[in-house]
Amino acid sequence: MAANCIFCKIIKGEIPSMKIFESEKTLAFLDINPLSLGHALVIPKHHGAKLTDIPDDQLSEVLPVASKIAKATGSDQYNILQNNGRMAHQVVDHVHFHFIPKPNEQEGLGIGWPQQ
Ligand code: 5GP
Repeated sequence: MAANCIFCKIIKGEIPSMKIFESEKTLAFLDINPLSLGHALVIPKHHGAKLTDIPDDQLSEVLPVASKIAKATGSDQYNILQNNGRMAHQVVDHVHFHFIPKPNEQEGLGIGWPQQ
C-alpha cells in the first residue's frame, strides 16, 4: 500500500467507491468519471504504478475478473485498456485495467450497473 495513492485508499475503504468485485488480490469498482455506462476499473491490490511493477501472481486474476464483469453486464462490445506513464495517458499511478462497454446499436447498453 502507498500512503498517498487514491486507489490504495479505495482498497482500504478510506475513499468510497462502487465496488463490484473483491478478492484477496483484486478489486473492481466503477470509474468515478465513466466514459460509458458501466465503465469499471479492475486493479491488483498490490501497489505499483506500472504493469512491470506488479508481480505475476498479483496480476493473474485481473483479466479473469474483467471477463466476469463482461459476462455479468451482458456487454459483448467493450474495450479493456491499461495505460502506463503520462505519455500513455496514465493519471492514477496504481495499475488499473479499464473495462469500457460500448453501446449496442440495436439494444443500447443492455447492462445492469447502477448509474453513479
Ligand atoms: P488513467 O488515465 O490513469 O488510466 O485512468 C484513471 C481513471 O481513474 C480515470 O478514468 C478516472 O476517472 C478514475 N478515477 C480517478 N480517481 C478516482 C476515484 O477516486 N474513484 C474512482 N472510482 N475512479 C477514479
